[in-house]
Amino acid sequence: MSRLTVVAGPTAVGKGTIIRRMVEKYGDVWVSVSVTTRPRRPGEKDGIDYSFVTEEEFSRMIEDGEFLEWATVHGTHRYGTPRQPVEERLAAGVPCILEIDLDGARQVRAAMPEALFVFVAPPSWEELVRRLTGRDTESEEERARRLSTARVEMDAAGEFDEVVVNDDLDEAVERVHSLAVGG
Ligand code: 5GP
Repeated sequence: MSRLTVVAGPTAVGKGTIIRRMVEKYGDVWVSVSVTTRPRRPGEKDGIDYSFVTEEEFSRMIEDGEFLEWATVHGTHRYGTPRQPVEERLAAGVPCILEIDLDGARQVRAAMPEALFVFVAPPSWEELVRRLTGRDTESEEERARRLSTARVEMDAAGEFDEVVVNDDLDEAVERVHSLAVGG
């Protein structure tokens, strides 16, 4: 069995960018595609960025036990990790990455305590706020909600096995990759 690495951290900290760069550079890790009830944003592709489903389909997947974990994120939409693709990759020896929220990370910790839990932290709270307000994909209300989730998430860093500060992107990519492949 290879390693399952759970990557969490506050919104806009750059988890997605680190993981994307890591996959482009190394290609030896598999990143789980989450299922979500959130509407697709411009540029996002179904089945690649997320599998976009209806509320009904999401509820059916919960009932059928198809999720390794799932959570309501930012108090609005539901997101979940399909169990089967992860188990198949791990059994085949491929290191797997989950980019999920704090709730989800805690569920995986309970279900698979052997996984590695990595927290991506911003260089400072001020920098996080700057990054968060620099994104124009969200409304003001959505931004405020994400900021309040981020505060709670920052307080949870101590629960994780490793903390990677996303100060220098290239260094963060190297660090997360080395952890994911067992370093
Ligand atoms: P976004 O809507 O910006 O793509 O993602 C919002 C948040 O949802 C991110 O912080 C991300 O970590 C979280 N998220 C994405 N997929 C999953 C998932 O499968 N499970 C859980 N618990 N959280 C997820």
